[in-house]
Amino acid sequence: MTTRGQLRVLEPGWRDQLRGAVTTVEGLDAAIALTPEERRGAERAEAAGFPLQVTPYYLSLIDGDDPACPIRRQVVPHADEATETAGDLVDPLGEEAHEVAPSLVRRYPDRALLVSTDQCAIYCRFCTRSRVVGAGAGPAPLRSLEPAFVWLEAHPEIKDVILSGGDPFTMATSRLVRLVSRLRAIEHVEVIRLATRVPVSLPMRIDDELVGALRGLHPLWVMTHFNHPRELSDEAAAGVARLVDAGFPVMNQTVLLRGVNDDASTLTALFRGLIRWRVKPYYLLQMDPVRGTGHLRTPLSRGVEIMEALQGRLSGIALPKLIVDTPGGMGKVPIGPDYVVDRAPGRTRLRTHRGVEVDYLDP
Ligand SMILES: *Cc1c(COP(=O)(O)O)cnc(C)c1O
Repeated sequence: MTTRGQLRVLEPGWRDQLRGAVTTVEGLDAAIALTPEERRGAERAEAAGFPLQVTPYYLSLIDGDDPACPIRRQVVPHADEATETAGDLVDPLGEEAHEVAPSLVRRYPDRALLVSTDQCAIYCRFCTRSRVVGAGAGPAPLRSLEPAFVWLEAHPEIKDVILSGGDPFTMATSRLVRLVSRLRAIEHVEVIRLATRVPVSLPMRIDDELVGALRGLHPLWVMTHFNHPRELSDEAAAGVARLVDAGFPVMNQTVLLRGVNDDASTLTALFRGLIRWRVKPYYLLQMDPVRGTGHLRTPLSRGVEIMEALQGRLSGIALPKLIVDTPGGMGKVPIGPDYVVDRAPGRTRLRTHRGVEVDYLDP
């Protein structure tokens, strides 16, 4: 954390942050002194695999003295990425099979997801879309997305479009505004969601120019991705406040990650911090079985245990749903502790967070 002030002086604006992002083994080693396992992982990523990239801002959140730092684990490649685990998939959510037009994925009756760019500010090692993200293509030209717009126009049942990527907030504001305006012009698309990790990875991007340019296009929801309380910095607070003050509901999707946030006290601090910022903890996601991420995944039972520890002890507005996005892209499934102890005709016995059992009688 000692380099923090220095970095801020060197890298003031969001474009400088992207230009100054660390993308090489040597750059990463100079910043945080890689362990031998990380060096091997980074060499592999640099050579062929899913690229490495970290903004100076996100690097500044890393505790260089702690090899188990939860920020580090999210972005620094590890030799274990070369290990395949049973059940690993290249495209865990079957997105290619569910593509209805180029870059448009439809898995639900009323919503669709548009992959608008392959670029992010940081490349999270557990990325569900690591097969395509960071390939270097950059934002999709609007005309190449035209078949997706035409498909949406022909499907009035689609009410909600998720603009994802890559990270749409890494695009130039004018390009993003043109894209969102094109979606807005489709009358039956009621809600547009902007899926972005920029509030976490590049919060200075959320400036008055961006917010001012988008706020005329409401209803726009922002789906973001804080995973650890250490990501709740002053810079992130300022970015999030700009969004919320401008009327964007901000929802958070946390991915449950082994050795990062897989305990109740870390998640309690995260979720409490988010609701103070007026951000709703929306989903706690079981990690998708992405190829080479077995070392970052928890067993399903871990998430259920954590939810059980939080239920009733944490404010309801701070409590996300635990979700498994089923392999193959068959849809998201909520899971959690079972509070029904016994069922009989007209009577259900429930277990409360206090540990007492109570009968509910049907009318
Ligand atoms: C996750 C996802 C959605 C959104 O799901 P919600 O439960 O509505 O947040 C929509 N489309 C695709 C393809 C998805 O992966």
